[in-house]
Amino acid sequence: MIDNLDDPGSLNTSDWHWQLRNRITTLEQLEKVVEHLTVEEKRAVIYSLKHPEGLKMAITPYFASLMDKNNPECPIRKQMIPSMEEFRTSPVELYDPCGEEKDTVVANLVHRYPDRVLLLVTDKCAAYCRHCTRRRIVGSSESVIKEENFQSAVEYIKRNNKIRDVLISGGDPLLFSDDRMEYFIKTLHAIDNVEMIRIGTRVPVTLPQRITNDFCNMLKKYQPIYISIHINHPNEITEEMKAACGMLADNGIVLGSQTVLLKGINDRPQTMMKLMHELLKIRVRPYYIYQCDLAPGTGHFRTSVSAGIKIIQSMRGYTTGYALPTYVIDAPGGGGKVPIGPDYVISKSRKGVIFKNYESRVFVYPENGSMISVPKLDKIASERNGS
Ligand SMILES: *Cc1c(COP(=O)(O)O)cnc(C)c1O
Repeated sequence: MIDNLDDPGSLNTSDWHWQLRNRITTLEQLEKVVEHLTVEEKRAVIYSLKHPEGLKMAITPYFASLMDKNNPECPIRKQMIPSMEEFRTSPVELYDPCGEEKDTVVANLVHRYPDRVLLLVTDKCAAYCRHCTRRRIVGSSESVIKEENFQSAVEYIKRNNKIRDVLISGGDPLLFSDDRMEYFIKTLHAIDNVEMIRIGTRVPVTLPQRITNDFCNMLKKYQPIYISIHINHPNEITEEMKAACGMLADNGIVLGSQTVLLKGINDRPQTMMKLMHELLKIRVRPYYIYQCDLAPGTGHFRTSVSAGIKIIQSMRGYTTGYALPTYVIDAPGGGGKVPIGPDYVISKSRKGVIFKNYESRVFVYPENGSMISVPKLDKIASERNGS
């Protein structure tokens, strides 16, 4: 843990408020943590400070302490330190990559699917990821939902009683005080049709000190609560992060992960497999791998879709089924998350399905009770297997 940052108050690095007060937002502060920044990194930091319309730089001292001082390719450096590449946009990129604005039904509430909604309660995060998909709003004002807008969202959810699941996200909802969080959760939990509450957050990774006993004791009153943790690399799993997840899991909070596929950071199958194994060890069930959205200035992070398919292919069959997240593309312009994966089905006919397993061996599943055709299907399968 670094100890050379100016701090007017306490120097208690395990206090989450200290972490937030001492976020790294300037080149001078960053240089205290990483002495040998590259020329490109310095240039990009200076440039981004001069262009406040872009995504703000802010890194908690804790998360910055995980950066490899000697390696500019460090996955945490690449996710946190601005790059000049961010200022290069492409015509395929979209201001609102997943079309959230057109599904916004009342301020701060996105209603895309029949039975669940996304409630954006703040635009502030503990640390800003350079690949942020919601960069059009995130970090811009570091403001929180207006009380009247929260009330309108609650009224909307009450009126639309098919909504049974509310996902609270932002920004990062865990930056609210326990009391304010409790107010949101308690109000939503009290709605008859709301069966479950989910929270999307990166705080267990960037600010694990935030997960306190008091916070967990508050949360567990409103079960079932699911938390989806944004995590991208095995280096993000530290003793502090493990302790935070352990406390949440011990209190019965169901933990899932969300990972963005990022070029040069986690696009090797071994890296992804390691991340998923480490998550299972700390009781976080891998949930999604996202194809990197078409947010402006994130081209340098995007991989091909085949890279994602290859990752799934390299895991299915070779490791614990629980280690497998669903690889999805959040459809550009709106349409929701669509699972993308290796195709195991070779052909479908009235008689049955021909498919392959993880080793590419071909099998037949006969349908419609047409026993007579099975030998024929079997013949096709064995020909494909090269026997
Ligand atoms: C991701 C998302 C959800 C939740 O989707 P699940 O697949 O149920 O996790 C809900 N609403 C919006 C707008 C989303 O982007």
